[in-house]
Amino acid sequence: MITSSIVRRFPALEALFARPVTEAAPERSCGGRRPPFPGSAQLRHVDAGSCNGCEVEITQAFAPVCDAGRFGVRLVASPRHADGLLVTGVVTRNMATPLRKTLDAVPRPRVVVACGDCAVDGGVFAGAYGVTGRVGDVVPVDVEIPGCPPDPSTITEALRGLTGR
Ligand code: SF4
Repeated sequence: MITSSIVRRFPALEALFARPVTEAAPERSCGGRRPPFPGSAQLRHVDAGSCNGCEVEITQAFAPVCDAGRFGVRLVASPRHADGLLVTGVVTRNMATPLRKTLDAVPRPRVVVACGDCAVDGGVFAGAYGVTGRVGDVVPVDVEIPGCPPDPSTITEALRGLTGR
């Protein structure tokens, strides 16, 4: 019989019996409504002027612990392969036109997710001299994820609302 004291003495055995580190799935956020992209949603990320704090948390949302990919959400390199945009940061003057053009390249139906307080309402950069405005001032926003930065579980929960998984 393999006891816990034996397992502790052999690291390879310990790894074999370790419990998965993946967090339990957060609540779905579609509230019973039909999700816009049932089962699968591809998103192109656009940094419109972020401090990169939101990017760190998005990276964690797709890392093994939260693993947003298990709910059918993926980040893709081209807006032409995407169902929508995941936008971080307040929109700087230099990024207003690229953001509009990137959205134009996404086929319809499409969705825009504003991730983080800066994207939702300007956050700590609202009114700064180099800022055009919040994401909603430049392109229509469908989903808002508040927080500075939002934690990976919050991001994962919001993205589950796109796929309904
Ligand atoms: S919401 Fe906070 S973490 Fe995200 S880009 Fe703005 S300042 Fe940075």
